[in-house]
Amino acid sequence: MGWLDKNPPQGSLYYQRRWVKLDVDYLRYFDNDKEVYSKRIIPTAAITGVTNVGEQKFEVVTTNRTFLFRAESDSERNEWVSVLQNFTKGRQEGSREITASVPPSLLTPGSPLTPEQQGYLELRGLRSKLYTVVSGDKVFLYKNDYRLGIGITSIDMNVGNVKDTDRRSFDLTTPYRIFSFLADSEQHKEQWVEAMRDAIGEALSNSEVANQIWAEPSNGCCADCGAAKPEWAAINLCVVVCKRCAGEHRGLGPSISKVRSLKMDRKVWTEELIQVFLLLGNERLNGFWAANVPPSEAL
Ligand SMILES: [Zn+2]
Repeated sequence: MGWLDKNPPQGSLYYQRRWVKLDVDYLRYFDNDKEVYSKRIIPTAAITGVTNVGEQKFEVVTTNRTFLFRAESDSERNEWVSVLQNFTKGRQEGSREITASVPPSLLTPGSPLTPEQQGYLELRGLRSKLYTVVSGDKVFLYKNDYRLGIGITSIDMNVGNVKDTDRRSFDLTTPYRIFSFLADSEQHKEQWVEAMRDAIGEALSNSEVANQIWAEPSNGCCADCGAAKPEWAAINLCVVVCKRCAGEHRGLGPSISKVRSLKMDRKVWTEELIQVFLLLGNERLNGFWAANVPPSEAL
């Protein structure tokens, strides 16, 4: 993540300074580094190419739009380009393995596969309606048709609370912001409120396994890189790893490392398996593997 300048919107001459965050699933940009909700969210799955265009600039190409960014130096720019290119390359190579264990809807939340509820809603303070999608434990906001994949922001429902406010309106409250929505009928409002409450329920039950596993302190950090709150596990090796390292494990093939999510693959997590993870923990396991794996094959 870091600061980048985004090319001027139509009709303006000035670059806009944006705080940009990249993870395995999304490239997002924000007004500033304190902001929780992005101005734009681009699924990495929608990125078809990343190119260097000179003068510290680079282009991120998606099927329906190209984003131009400018870094502060050539070396910074090169870093962004190489990380982004790695993601798109890794995705093509690893996609078969990933889609085998994760429902496709979670890889591309913009895809029309499993929204619980979707449609246009008015959001107080905005003139145009937003295409809103409730999917899994998240709510996504889009300017237009969500099938294009590029949205405004996503809202994690684990910290959400939904309250009826009037005949057609309701509030989604998070610690960071209140989203006041207006549906086009009372009946639609009730459907939206129910779908968003279900998403909150799903978010809370999704984090149950993770919270149990993290109760063993050494499981609170990725076994490979030390990143906090790792949400993935190699269930045959009994190690908990972050999303990025999970990708590397997947690359080793399922016979060496069987990667599952603490939050999404809920059926895998029997009480017995959770107990094994609590007994062993990242710390002791890493010592064991380091002692038994030839250096050339160290994970
Ligand atoms: Zn890691």
